[in-house]
Amino acid sequence: MLKQPKLVIKEVSLAWTFIKCKDNQSFVKITIFASNFIKTILTMNQEDFFKKITAHAKEYGFIFPSSEIYDGLSAVYDYGQNGVELKKNIREYWWKAMVQMHENIVGIDAAIFMHPTTWKASGHVDAFNDPLIDNRDSKKRYRADVLVEDYMAKIEEKINKEVEKARKRFGDAFNEEQFVTTNPRVLEHKAKIEEISHRLYGAMEANDLDAIKQLILDLEIVCPISGTRNWTDVRQFNLMFATKMGSVADGSDTIYLRPETAQGIFVNYLNVQKTGRMKIPFGIAQTGKAFRNEIVARQFIFRMREFEQMEMQFFVRPGTELEWFQHWKQERLAWHLSLGLPAEKYRFHDHEKLAHYANAATDIEFDFPFGFKELEGIHSRTDFDLSRHSEFSGKKLQYFDSELNESYTPYVIETSIGVDRTFLAVFSHALKDETLPDGSVRTVLSLPAMLAPYKAAVLPLVKKDGLPEKAREIMDMLKPHYMLQYDEKDAIGRRYRRQDAIGTPFCITVDNDTLNDNSVTVRNRDTMQQERIPIDNLTAFLHNNLH
Ligand code: ATP
Repeated sequence: MLKQPKLVIKEVSLAWTFIKCKDNQSFVKITIFASNFIKTILTMNQEDFFKKITAHAKEYGFIFPSSEIYDGLSAVYDYGQNGVELKKNIREYWWKAMVQMHENIVGIDAAIFMHPTTWKASGHVDAFNDPLIDNRDSKKRYRADVLVEDYMAKIEEKINKEVEKARKRFGDAFNEEQFVTTNPRVLEHKAKIEEISHRLYGAMEANDLDAIKQLILDLEIVCPISGTRNWTDVRQFNLMFATKMGSVADGSDTIYLRPETAQGIFVNYLNVQKTGRMKIPFGIAQTGKAFRNEIVARQFIFRMREFEQMEMQFFVRPGTELEWFQHWKQERLAWHLSLGLPAEKYRFHDHEKLAHYANAATDIEFDFPFGFKELEGIHSRTDFDLSRHSEFSGKKLQYFDSELNESYTPYVIETSIGVDRTFLAVFSHALKDETLPDGSVRTVLSLPAMLAPYKAAVLPLVKKDGLPEKAREIMDMLKPHYMLQYDEKDAIGRRYRRQDAIGTPFCITVDNDTLNDNSVTVRNRDTMQQERIPIDNLTAFLHNNLH
């Protein structure tokens, strides 16, 4: 993770010193000043973080703003030469775990355009809405439900602080379970969260936009930018992008850019089941672009208007779905942990409010530098989708279970993860400024080796004495198996830094001794340790160390 600027900490403590030496009356004013000040700093911190990530991603060819020469397009990004490799590796790592490793899961690649009735059947035309609200002073637009959820998250933070304080006070004797169920302050916070979520989700369910606005006013939620409560009314906004199909716009049907890849799987359920002779339980996986006209899209690639999903729908016998839901919860978490990032970076967030068609749902959240946020959703969707498509298409989308000797509409467990959010998670965690023993600072991108764009760089120490030719031989030997970079420009130290910055796990240096002993120096990106390895052992070395 990125280092926090030291300046911020110094300035916060200065603000506190200032507060402490004031009389009571000014104390209130100064507290308001200080809380706004701290808020500004926290916002600045987040902005600094995004600036650093965005700048690194751009400078090293990972991500560019879309159509940048025309000043870019809001919340749309292009992946550059290194970004495309990282993204492809994430996709392939997922595909291998989900499809290759499961004999009962197969993949498809459905078109982005789908028959318009698809989106009526799925409920997206009527209900794929977000409630939006504007602040009249800052002119910023927000998702009304997210404003309230952020407020609840702050109360939850207070609970966590109480728990941590008590843990310190009681030491080994601390019983967290007992504490959170009996401590009056924690209970008060919990009751508040419950009351707010009851009001919020009740209002969302009833589509009562006035009640959502009233909740925002009652909680005295202010705009993080202007600090005021000058809110407009809440309005519903459909997130699907619509366009017209065919060369004559008049009279042609409105079609939509798909807002999720899942529906391409549902409409192909029968095709795949029959042609693949699939037996329940079985899954269909798909990766591909999805489009949402997001109201607030300010967090780099976390929330984009065009993004990529990796989804799997797992079809099961009715009545077994909750067992399978638990199974996929654990299996998906294990996939995330297999990337080697710390376990405490992940947590489940079980949904309190379930969509009307779901009987269980959870998110796997990741601790991004801007807090825990959804990375993947796992949903038990009952038979809702297949039943609705049956109803709207008039085609029977069922399964004949020969063991039970009966036909039924399968139930579905869905796992749905964003490629771009996974990219942001691993990229933001991997990017570090490291102070070396000699006091210099290196920027290193410690990506999981299997995801790194290039697995190794081949570097002749100097551009003469036959070293480039030898290095080229090594390139030719390894290129068919691994993505490699060849670099002979600049001093070796600078070349190492360039590779560190794009996350290349190994640098293979060819020096004068190589010509005599047929060995090379292999430098490890993370430890910076170097070891001498015979060229003949390089393939095996990379094979053993790139996972
Ligand atoms: P959020 O609550 O953050 O809007 P969601 O619940 O709408 O997300 P899903 O519909 O469950 O998201 O989509 C599955 C996954 O697709 C998400 O977990 C996320 O990784 C990814 N995703 C969804 N919307 C976006 C987006 N606008 N930009 C990037 N990735 C997205």
